[in-house]
Amino acid sequence: MPRRSRRAAALALLFCAVVTYSQTPILGFTPTSAAREAQIEFKYKSIPSPDEERRQHHIFTAEPHVAGSARNNELARYIADEWRNEGLEDVVIRRYDVYGSNPKSTSLEMVAPVHYRAGLRELPIPGDPDSKNKKISSAWSGMSASGEATAALVYAHSGNPEDYELLRKKGIDVKGKVVLVRYSNPYSYRGFKALTAEREGAAALLIYSDPAEDGYKKGKVDPNGPWGPEYHIQRGAITYDFMVPGDPLTPGWASIPGAKRIPVEEAVSIPKIMALPLSWHDAKPLLAQMDGPLAPDDWQGGLPFKYHLGGGRVRVHVKIEMDNSTQPYYVVEGRIGGVEAPDEWIVLGNHRDAWVFGGVDPSSGTAALMEMTRAFGKLAKEGIRPRRTLIFCSWDGEEVGLTGSTEWGEQFANELRDRAVAYINVDEATSGPDFHGQAVASLAPLLVEATRTLQDPAGKSLYEAWKESTARERAAARQSEPVTDLNLADTRIGSGSDHTVFLNFIGMPVLGLGFEGPYGVYHSAYDDFFWMNHFGDPGYRYHALMSQLWGVLALRLANADLLPFDFASYAANIREFVNEMAKGKDLSRLDLKPVLAAIDGFETAGKRLSESVGRSLASGTIDRKLAGTINHGMMQAERNWLNPEGIPGRPWFKHILYGARFTYAHLELPGLTEAVEKQDWAAAKQQAEILRQALDRNTQLLQELNATLR
Ligand SMILES: [Zn+2]
Repeated sequence: MPRRSRRAAALALLFCAVVTYSQTPILGFTPTSAAREAQIEFKYKSIPSPDEERRQHHIFTAEPHVAGSARNNELARYIADEWRNEGLEDVVIRRYDVYGSNPKSTSLEMVAPVHYRAGLRELPIPGDPDSKNKKISSAWSGMSASGEATAALVYAHSGNPEDYELLRKKGIDVKGKVVLVRYSNPYSYRGFKALTAEREGAAALLIYSDPAEDGYKKGKVDPNGPWGPEYHIQRGAITYDFMVPGDPLTPGWASIPGAKRIPVEEAVSIPKIMALPLSWHDAKPLLAQMDGPLAPDDWQGGLPFKYHLGGGRVRVHVKIEMDNSTQPYYVVEGRIGGVEAPDEWIVLGNHRDAWVFGGVDPSSGTAALMEMTRAFGKLAKEGIRPRRTLIFCSWDGEEVGLTGSTEWGEQFANELRDRAVAYINVDEATSGPDFHGQAVASLAPLLVEATRTLQDPAGKSLYEAWKESTARERAAARQSEPVTDLNLADTRIGSGSDHTVFLNFIGMPVLGLGFEGPYGVYHSAYDDFFWMNHFGDPGYRYHALMSQLWGVLALRLANADLLPFDFASYAANIREFVNEMAKGKDLSRLDLKPVLAAIDGFETAGKRLSESVGRSLASGTIDRKLAGTINHGMMQAERNWLNPEGIPGRPWFKHILYGARFTYAHLELPGLTEAVEKQDWAAAKQQAEILRQALDRNTQLLQELNATLR
């Protein structure tokens, strides 16, 4: 469409929108504020453009930009400059000096029965100019130990504890040997594979991408399709950040200049095993030569021969030399100050560092962040400012232990506990068209409502598209649960991205957004501009939709008269967590009745507060001071789920509703669930009591707020 007619169409739409939206209620808004909000959102949504998303994406994916690299630091300065020009305020680049983990050299050779030297390189792909870039790194694992070993090779399937059990039954001990495992599907964090191999006494861990998981067995491979080609290497860190994320030498406090640091030997998140990722091109000659027992059927993979467990015939030499000197990571921070409640903060973040070019992970998210800040800057220049403060962050070192966000969160933990409304994370904005939205249950209704106001490029509302893709996915996974507004958002939140410090350490409600599709080049050099333009989001329309959705959510949290928290939903969700935890277990030695009664009490208090909030909003005017008191009170509810002692064995993780397993998988009621799984009934009783007390604290809080409001 030519420029002028596009503008005319926009004006016509603006008129319709005001008329239509003025009758549409928005959670947390009075009718008058909702009408104003609809106009602001309409203006906001008209700004992000696919062309700009593509231009920004090209800048971020132009060169490899791993954490700590000169290019990644240059991009930090670029973001800061852009944000200043766009009109963001207080733009600063914060520096954290962290334990470094860069490769000096890595090598792998098969020394028997035949010689093979692994290339550990990704060959160029026809048509993709970036794949020829000389700065593409070879294979390496972040936080690998340094060392050298020559030993027999054992194939251990996915490298989970049960895989080693099976090997033991077959008479195979991996002590002192090199273990070859594959990236598994569904995804399991590679750091857990490293910890398991370390505990088993292996000398080194090799992790390869089997074509059955993300390669030709799935479909066409890059450059003909989205799946991983022969040489693709899934890099990644093996940090034990499930114990404590961030800089391993400052667990629980920020790595700012002059910070106290613990000795390396005391750092629980630093692995003591060597690890190296491989393409299937480099794994194939090793697997093909292996002897010993035939691997079980479900251990067989996509390569054209039978896999064996390893009887000692194949011997390999692994040598890894890492540079662990301290290096700076840089977090870029900018804000748009709120006009009415500047001390209530909505934090929005995406990580900048990539394993190589980061086409999907994270530069799709970074492009969406830049279009969001451009849109907010433009509104601010027109005098349209949020009531609360928006804080935008570009994290560093997410790929190595969630480090930038963790250090920043630790540095400002006290302020955030007092002032933060919520954190909205976007890591991979888009690898395809299917929306996935995560939220703590109190914010799930907000997320669902916001998707109704957005257009999916496929022609329906994002809400309809989300429901359809979710129904498809549940059918494929043979889940019978029908898709409803109540279960559309994913409220089981594990780890593996920058929301972790905000949820688990600070006690902030979090949301996480992403569009997904077939994606076989994760953490490889082929996750780049070419891949995005051919497979992930060729028209950059999902990028633009992400900027719209992210901003609309931020606007609703920033402008609501009364914050749109739904605590009755939260209570119902916690009841589900308890029931799921109890399912199929003999809990005769644990009395859950007090917890269930406390959930009922919290639910009733949540419903009553929602009713009062609804009445106040419908009345049309709310005293500003009263609203401030209610909002500040509601913001404290999430903080009440924190146990200052943390969950048993992992004191950094303080949230009692959400945690993550060592695999990064979600783990609800972590303290209670782990105690029940261990059948440690004394601990289980204690954890149930902690949960009950937190529920009671929140019931009381909501009752007090309700009394104040009425
Ligand atoms: Zn990422």
